[in-house]
Amino acid sequence: MSIAENLLQIRSELPESVTLVAISKTRPVSDILEAYAAGQTDFGENKVQELVDKEEQIRETLRWHQVGTLQRNKVKYIAPFVHLIHSVESRKLLLEIEKQGAKNSRTIDVLLQMHIAEEESKFGLDEKELKELMDDPEIRELRHIRIRGLMGMATFTEDTVQVAREFRGLRKLYDQVSTSYSGMDNCLIDTLSMGMSGDYRIAVEEGSTLVRVGTAIFGARNYGSN
Ligand SMILES: *Cc1c(COP(=O)(O)O)cnc(C)c1O
Repeated sequence: MSIAENLLQIRSELPESVTLVAISKTRPVSDILEAYAAGQTDFGENKVQELVDKEEQIRETLRWHQVGTLQRNKVKYIAPFVHLIHSVESRKLLLEIEKQGAKNSRTIDVLLQMHIAEEESKFGLDEKELKELMDDPEIRELRHIRIRGLMGMATFTEDTVQVAREFRGLRKLYDQVSTSYSGMDNCLIDTLSMGMSGDYRIAVEEGSTLVRVGTAIFGARNYGSN
């Protein structure tokens, strides 16, 4: 199936309230333009260099999402235009985003990435670290970041019961954050980023508001080093 057909198929499965972010990492600009022509406006990349290169090459105003591990020294390259950073997992990174937001006279929307997978290797904050961050008086004062919600990746497994359990846990935490912190000046909690090609249906059932889908739109990636 073509990119346009894949998009149509996936959108038909998603409730209207769920945002579809097309993860275009490793894909050529021509694929992105094909998706854009089919009505797709949100795109995500996991490498800053690739994100910046693509943003420069494409004239249309797309909404660019940063979804991979983000090094502090690279925030400055995406700060002028990034729509949402999904992968904040430290106080230091948040402070750097604040600094670059101020330099660009923008408020940068971010999600806090949570560790939900039962496997060891995935990144993210645990519940205690999340609360420490949200309760930190210095963080509460920041005016060039806005916390929009949480992001998480489930364990890569065929066990759909386990995947559903991990997503359910994240949704519960998201609801708690939404209740406890919505009054904070730099919080507008409305985004729960969970679900990829292999598990977005489960994620939506468990209350995701944004899915990050690559392979199911663009086909299998040819991986070099990533
Ligand atoms: C690559 C990637 C995706 C998309 O993965 P697919 O399995 O191709 O849909 C989603 N989220 C993150 C953080 C990624 O790095």
